[in-house]
Amino acid sequence: QKIDQATAKARSGLFGQISGLFAVDDPITEDFWDDLEALLIQADVGVETTQYLVNRTKDRCNRNGVKRVREAKGMLKAEMVRVFQDQVRAPAQAKPYVLLVVGVNGAGKTTLIAKLAHRLTVQYGKSVLLAAADTFRAAATEQLETWASRAGVPVITRGQGADPGAVVYDGVEAALAQNVDVLIIDTAGRLHAKANLMRELEKLRNIIRRHIPDAPHEVLLVIDATTGQNGVLQAKSLMQAVEVTDVAVTKLDGTAKGGIAFAIAQDIERPIRYIGTGEKMTDLAMFDSQAFVDSLLS
Ligand code: GDP
Repeated sequence: QKIDQATAKARSGLFGQISGLFAVDDPITEDFWDDLEALLIQADVGVETTQYLVNRTKDRCNRNGVKRVREAKGMLKAEMVRVFQDQVRAPAQAKPYVLLVVGVNGAGKTTLIAKLAHRLTVQYGKSVLLAAADTFRAAATEQLETWASRAGVPVITRGQGADPGAVVYDGVEAALAQNVDVLIIDTAGRLHAKANLMRELEKLRNIIRRHIPDAPHEVLLVIDATTGQNGVLQAKSLMQAVEVTDVAVTKLDGTAKGGIAFAIAQDIERPIRYIGTGEKMTDLAMFDSQAFVDSLLS
């Protein structure tokens, strides 16, 4: 349902065309593989991941004696699911559970944090505290405060230009003092100053660890699906500044391509945990690889 909402454009766009390739009762030919490859690349799957998928699908067809186009669809879907299942991680159990959110500006970080806060409080009855450590970007703090009040969760701020380390320090202290379940920290994503970003994130991590040695328990990298392969490149660059554990793909509902999720799983080598399915607070889905592939190629 939520996943279907996120893939609607892709389903009527490129993945609809891919499904169309399989809708004939023809023998499999080299042309068929070429057409499939071209469409996957157009769908933002990326050249390498496309070749990987097509080769593995060919092998699977051969192993299973599949010779007709119609039957090859299940083979492709099985290989697509595998791309995601290579990346699985069990989240830690901790209180407070410290979640550091990173991503380039505009990726949808603030919106995602609001969605997570909403989900944790409303669906799971957890207490959540937000820390606005993106003190660089004008309006980032206000934006987070607006969302936080809508989600009904408190937020620690020190205003624009404040030391992000001080905000994180306050956030960790407050989370411990108030016995909060989850502390979510928003960070600045200034890629053009990578050395600074690296130092800043390292500093934030050290401040967190002074209080909670095994934290942060999750470093969530937010990637905008509509930025395609370029978004993947930016994300990889950001990963040189911070050790990422998981990925959230936002704005999946905004692209007719949608294949970017495969490129992310393959290139970023981290599990996709969440997908953004729209602009509202409730527009968030836990990523489920089988449901995602079924939804794309229904
Ligand atoms: P930040 O700069 O990374 O904090 O990005 P924001 O959270 O401010 O989001 C940037 C824009 O993307 C806003 O207009 C959001 O409404 C929009 N946005 C964020 N997530 C989603 C999503 O999952 N789907 C859609 N359609 N829009 C989104």
